[in-house]
Amino acid sequence: MNLANCDRCGKQVANHELISYTLASGSLELCTQCFNADVAERFGVDDFDNNVIDPISIVDAAGDSHTFHVQTRLMGPEMVVLEAFELANGAPGGYRFQMIAEPDEERFSQLGRLVQKIRRTLTTRYLENSELGLQIKDMEVRGHIEADMSEEGNLFESRVPMLTIDGRDISWEEFGNMLMAFEGFQFQLKLVDPGDDVNS
Ligand SMILES: [Zn+2]
Repeated sequence: MNLANCDRCGKQVANHELISYTLASGSLELCTQCFNADVAERFGVDDFDNNVIDPISIVDAAGDSHTFHVQTRLMGPEMVVLEAFELANGAPGGYRFQMIAEPDEERFSQLGRLVQKIRRTLTTRYLENSELGLQIKDMEVRGHIEADMSEEGNLFESRVPMLTIDGRDISWEEFGNMLMAFEGFQFQLKLVDPGDDVNS
């Protein structure tokens, strides 16, 4: 896992825990807690719950356990973003969820809704192993679009998506191969905001 220090409290945290924060005086790399404290002060959010949340384990339809790390980020006086993600080789990878909530709502009930959202997704599998390899199970697929970091170039230059379906990475090429089982079919593509519930 790549570690780095928070520019404010000096605590050593994983890279994905740091947020670049731009101020008039320059740019800082802050840990989640320092970032939230700063935003809370700036916007006068007095009682923001800035406690670190312990990882949550949730079992999927196949009986496999998934450990989710949860980050809360205060984005202003009226918005807190909760993100739940799995780690693969020390970096976020696999299933990923985002939920938008109000800062003054109890963290406990926010987490309850987040867990429900995760459970609903984990009960459904869109891919299955067949004699032709991994294939689309029914006539529908849901997942996430990420950047394919194995392609040439860096994050900002990547022009090929890496899809996350059933919590696993599926390259654009692999997905294309799966679609060929449906040659001649029509398709429908709907893009959904990361904070919205794709199941509703
Ligand atoms: Zn810090």
